[in-house]
Amino acid sequence: MTILQNLVDLLGLKAVLLTAFVFVPVERLFALHKGQKVLRKALLNDLVFLFVNGWLVRSALAVTFVVAMAIFSLILPAGIGPAVQSQPLWLQAAEVILIADIGQYLAHRAFHAVPFLWKFHAVHHSIEELDWVAAYRVHPLDQIATKAASLLPVFILGYSEAAIAIYYMIFQWHALLLHANVRLTVGPLKWIVASPQFHHWHHANERKAYDKNFAAQLPLLDLLGGTLHLPGNTFPEQYGVDKPLPQNYFRQLVRPFMPLPKSRASEATPAPAEENS
Ligand SMILES: [Zn+2]
Ligand SMILES: [Zn+2]
Repeated sequence: MTILQNLVDLLGLKAVLLTAFVFVPVERLFALHKGQKVLRKALLNDLVFLFVNGWLVRSALAVTFVVAMAIFSLILPAGIGPAVQSQPLWLQAAEVILIADIGQYLAHRAFHAVPFLWKFHAVHHSIEELDWVAAYRVHPLDQIATKAASLLPVFILGYSEAAIAIYYMIFQWHALLLHANVRLTVGPLKWIVASPQFHHWHHANERKAYDKNFAAQLPLLDLLGGTLHLPGNTFPEQYGVDKPLPQNYFRQLVRPFMPLPKSRASEATPAPAEENS
């Protein structure tokens, strides 16, 4: 195997190229913001997130899961796993989607509500031009905590690897679609299936849309939680936070650890509750 082949495998370039092969034409055909270029302003920054974050997150999650599973195996009754796996695969997969999205919803809501956590999550909300690559711009600590909240319960309950794999494949492609620059709504399924319209409103830099649409797959959770914002078939005009973050991977990584001067402390935080509708 050549050095180039090793490098391609190491970076997961084949998977990235396949994904680009799907999303670049789809974004051209169904463009929401037609003036947005493929080679947009912060693309390089987001490509660094795409290629570097995966390693960091996978390594940290592996350690977290081994420790957590060892602890929970001592606490939980041994019969839970076999009972869960005795269900049909399709039912297990559906349950995994529901349980994982409840974990995602709660973690995501906490990242918006707690100022210390928001400093990490603001990195994701610093995106000003949404497309499938922008989906990767997530601070690694945000990603580790959110993935642990969504996946740990399904591992602890003992769902089969096949059911978790089905969930994860759907989640990965769905997450990219939610951020894609496409004008796509899902009509009467809007409370069942998260659409690009649903998640684009989550990124809107508009007061009425702050702290809304936290779910990754099931908008029903936002409906139940009182956090749904889906006005007709409209899409937001502007994304991001009021005062932009530096569009640089390393500065975005370290910025949450740095104290902000009091007068600037609100620059990356959502609007106060009374301004939200
Ligand atoms: Zn968010
Ligand atoms: Zn997003």
